[in-house]
Amino acid sequence: MKIAVIGAGITGVTTAYFLTQKGFKVDLIESRRYPAMATSYANGGQLSASNSEAWNSWNNTLYGIKSLFSNNSSVILNPKISLSKINWLMNFIFAIKYKNKITHQICKMAIESVILYEKIAKKEKIKFDLYNKGILHFYFNKKQTEHALDINKLYQKAGLKRIRITHDELYALESSLVGKKFDSIFFTESDKSGDIHSFCNNLAAKLLKENKIKLINKEVTDLKVELKKYDRLFLCAGVGSKNLAKSIGEFLNIYPVKGYSITVNNPGPYAPKVSLLDDEKKIVCSRLGEKRLRIAGLAELNGYNLDIIQKRIRPLIAWCNKMFPNINTKDIKPWAGLRPMTPNMLPIYKRSKENKVWLNTGHGHLGWTLSAYTANNVVNSFTSE
Ligand SMILES: Cc1cc2nc3c(=O)[nH]c(=O)nc-3n(C[C@H](O)[C@H](O)[C@H](O)COP(=O)(O)OP(=O)(O)OC[C@H]3O[C@@H](n4cnc5c(N)ncnc54)[C@H](O)[C@@H]3O)c2cc1C
Repeated sequence: MKIAVIGAGITGVTTAYFLTQKGFKVDLIESRRYPAMATSYANGGQLSASNSEAWNSWNNTLYGIKSLFSNNSSVILNPKISLSKINWLMNFIFAIKYKNKITHQICKMAIESVILYEKIAKKEKIKFDLYNKGILHFYFNKKQTEHALDINKLYQKAGLKRIRITHDELYALESSLVGKKFDSIFFTESDKSGDIHSFCNNLAAKLLKENKIKLINKEVTDLKVELKKYDRLFLCAGVGSKNLAKSIGEFLNIYPVKGYSITVNNPGPYAPKVSLLDDEKKIVCSRLGEKRLRIAGLAELNGYNLDIIQKRIRPLIAWCNKMFPNINTKDIKPWAGLRPMTPNMLPIYKRSKENKVWLNTGHGHLGWTLSAYTANNVVNSFTSE
């Protein structure tokens, strides 16, 4: 059977991986020269079941509206109107009432996914600056703490152990935060962090070397044309999936939600080792090996626009300087990426209306975390077709 996976980001590479585990040889088609050069290039690095909370809330909607009049929001809505944006936003608001159910579902998938990554890392012995040190969340006021406790109940029901810890416990876990005061701190030991770009490239390189995949550089424009060459297609094209799905009459409600990151090179001895999440600012921070610290965040609804806007980068640098004043931020590399986001935050991993095409896309803000789960799941469904 001739199989192609379209897109060599994290969803495509993991899908190709699980297909090869079932004995299939796979053509991995990618429009860019190397794997993981789009959204899977420089994200926040977190493999985080503890970040499963769906973004659908009136608070976030309000932040978006407020951003029309302020420059300082972590959610930014470009006022330019488009049909796809309105459709997406209406469905985002509609999903608010299902937020708890969605969060529960995402958390369950994420727990399994993190375990799958652990297994892949062990079996394939690939390097991707994996840190098995857990993830710390911190909150600055009572209102945020109450919200965190509510979310914890959902996480607990889904099977995730995120525990509240004291300041002394925090300082013992992460010495770079000694002296910092928060209203509350939570720790998820089972979560991890690692470099998504290295993971994709090193896993793809291993599969290439073992002659299990072929990497084909080309831009796919019509899935019907590809179906003349392949028996089955797996669509894993991130924010490009929506357009490609149209060619087989499938509507995917995926909007590109832009985020930014900075990579601080040579951060020195005062950089944290445990991955962090500042829930108020929606900023994540992950150590990638000895020489890099990644800080990422912001959500901007501004179409397929990849410009790196300086005023969006500044809050990430300011956060780093405030949290870790001893880190040298002279040498930073800014980046912007587009999260392929569905309005209800749930990824799409199923057979399409066109029976020979399988979908694994729309992973939004948690694509690094969730891809191993959805790829394994979609490949299992395909093999039992
Ligand atoms: C700032 C930021 C921080 C983030 N932090 C985290 C985090 O800490 N943890 C987490 O779990 N997730 C995080 N995410 C989300 C995560 O990075 C994404 O969900 C994930 O990378 C999406 O992977 P993908 O494979 O769907 O898309 P991509 O990585 O974009 O891959 C799709 C691939 O398809 C290719 N392609 C597209 N169209 C075509 C075509 N027509 N023909 C051929 N090839 C095509 C593209 O070139 C691309 O390589 C973050 C995202 C951002 C932006």
